[in-house]
Amino acid sequence: MATVETVRGPVQADDLGPTLMHEHVFALSTEHVQNHGDGLWWDEEVRVADAVSKLRALRDKGIKTIVDPTVWGLGRYIPRIQRIAQQVDLNIVVAAGLYVYEELPQQYAYRGPGLLFDVPEPMITDFTRDIAEGIGTSGVKAALLKCCVDAAGLTAGIDRIARAVARTHRGTGAPITVHTSSPAQSGRLAVDLFRSEGVDLAKVVIAHAGDSNDLDYLMELADTGATLGMDRFGLDLFNPTPDRIRTIAALAARGYADRIVLAHDANCFIDYFGADQDAARAAIMPNWHYTHISDDVLPALRESGVTEAQIEQMLVDNPRRYFSGKAS
Ligand SMILES: [Zn+2]
Repeated sequence: MATVETVRGPVQADDLGPTLMHEHVFALSTEHVQNHGDGLWWDEEVRVADAVSKLRALRDKGIKTIVDPTVWGLGRYIPRIQRIAQQVDLNIVVAAGLYVYEELPQQYAYRGPGLLFDVPEPMITDFTRDIAEGIGTSGVKAALLKCCVDAAGLTAGIDRIARAVARTHRGTGAPITVHTSSPAQSGRLAVDLFRSEGVDLAKVVIAHAGDSNDLDYLMELADTGATLGMDRFGLDLFNPTPDRIRTIAALAARGYADRIVLAHDANCFIDYFGADQDAARAAIMPNWHYTHISDDVLPALRESGVTEAQIEQMLVDNPRRYFSGKAS
């Protein structure tokens, strides 16, 4: 039976239960925090306690698993996540990969096939180690791969990262979540690149597809076998909740409930919005938090004609299939 690696070790894919497929615990720039925040607006103990309480509230809604695609570029730091996971009865699944929109980090610019230091692709080496052996010395293994194809498209750096992710997928079997720009419809570029690399598209989530209400675009992606990440509930500035609901209901009515997963792309703390971010977020994005789906979105989907079985597919069956290859 398939097992899935989590921060607290492997669990059976059948035991993942209701799963939000794209939530961050933290989204940070480590250098920003260390140089401009530590002792000022960043207090490690306060932030860990806050995360524990927010994730417990989510667990109390019946969500059993979150997939946290926080990688290098978003401040991945597994020891902190381990501290939190020890205090919350929630599976937290973590990722390997890179979060950049255009440029390759310098740390990979000079090493690789045909480069100054002519070695095998170091990103594949690093991502594979995260999956096969564990991240750093934490003992925690990544269970998925993450990269971005944003509005800038397949720049030289993005192309190299996406191919390294694809080849790591082929070597390890780990599924992929790719950040995309729905206004630029960059999901197409991602799918085409992955297909050219022999990726099993049933193992790909097109993250942020839910920012689009273009049914033709969404069905085109889903028809490749990929799964649509309807994963930014509460980020109304990208697409208001009623429109997201209407789009999911329309897709479900057309038979696509087996190609949809749900999430908020939320976090306990993000260092993008200044020190007083709670107030800023409450004013601008009041629904961008972990329990909006449980409290508001699921009832609205039911009212829109989405059945209980279809909701179960989106929350339970599709995540299980993504991580296990097991048909629902
Ligand atoms: Zn995200």
